[in-house]
Amino acid sequence: MHSVPHISQGRGTRRATYHGRVTEPRKRVLLAKPRGYCAGVDRAVQTVEEALKLYGAPVYVRKQIVHNKHVVSTLEARGAIFVEENYEVPEGSTVVFSAHGVAPEVHEQARERKLKAIDATCPLVTKVHHEAKRFAAEDYDILLIGHEGHEEVIGTAGEAPAHIQLVDGPDDVDNVVVRDPAKVVWLSQTTLSVDETMETVARLKTRLPLLQSPPSDDICYATSNRQHVIKEIAPDCDVVIVVGSTNSSNSVRLVEVALGAGARAGHLVDYASEIRDEWLDGATTVGVSSGASVPDDLVMEVLAHLAERGFGEVTEYTTAEERLTFSLPQELRKDMKAAAAARAAG
Ligand code: SF4
Repeated sequence: MHSVPHISQGRGTRRATYHGRVTEPRKRVLLAKPRGYCAGVDRAVQTVEEALKLYGAPVYVRKQIVHNKHVVSTLEARGAIFVEENYEVPEGSTVVFSAHGVAPEVHEQARERKLKAIDATCPLVTKVHHEAKRFAAEDYDILLIGHEGHEEVIGTAGEAPAHIQLVDGPDDVDNVVVRDPAKVVWLSQTTLSVDETMETVARLKTRLPLLQSPPSDDICYATSNRQHVIKEIAPDCDVVIVVGSTNSSNSVRLVEVALGAGARAGHLVDYASEIRDEWLDGATTVGVSSGASVPDDLVMEVLAHLAERGFGEVTEYTTAEERLTFSLPQELRKDMKAAAAARAAG
């Protein structure tokens, strides 16, 4: 009789250690941690929930508050109305701006329509906006590494359109034109692939040796942490399943990073029901993670789905603990405080 394999766990250790001989491959799940909600998403979702409680439905939200189908439909069911632009919001109504940030002209339009604007832009995106404004004020050319058309990039570029040019990955480097090669800085979207961004920067530096780097990392902690852990477990995975929506940049990157790090296959799903049985054919190890805009309930549903198909043994790999939280937008906190005071007085 062969001894039962024992899987040891370890922080930041991707290799499971087997003791004893294995006669049959055991089906197992390697669950990545950190995964799912980041501080910016948590704050943005709470902002809409609190605004609904405080002002009552409907509360208008410009763009998807975060890029997740499930979150958006849940908030819609509670009375949020998602619009693309401010002109769709009735004059005088409340509008929440999404976690991805907006250009200054969007605030201006809101003022013109007398909207009560609550800005749920993630503070880490706001930080990049501040960097853009600061370097533009010093007359730098700013190379913004990011994906063309992404809301965050549109918002950041809107801070200093005359100074910012987009660099959409390493292949776009040859198109860069600057006024003074000694006065150039790169900034980036917060949700990019860390490795691909470094490749873009390396290529930029071969063309522009005096290129300056951002004062601190623009790719946020949540994006890098989720990529780091998926890289650790991917080499052991026959298939990696990432829970997230197709318009979620950091979720899409997680699948790419997993494949780049050695996962044999990778898939992005919004819901467990989208997992096809043929993806699991012949697989013994399935990696599971989720993007920064994904509630963990959806991951638990994926684990239950996999358990029903024989993947009931789950090992969670943790490479970092995340404790960051952000307070709600100031304008909302002020109204919440006033409402609480009115209740206490009345
Ligand atoms: S992914 Fe990063 S930048 Fe985006 S909302 Fe989350 S913490 Fe903020």
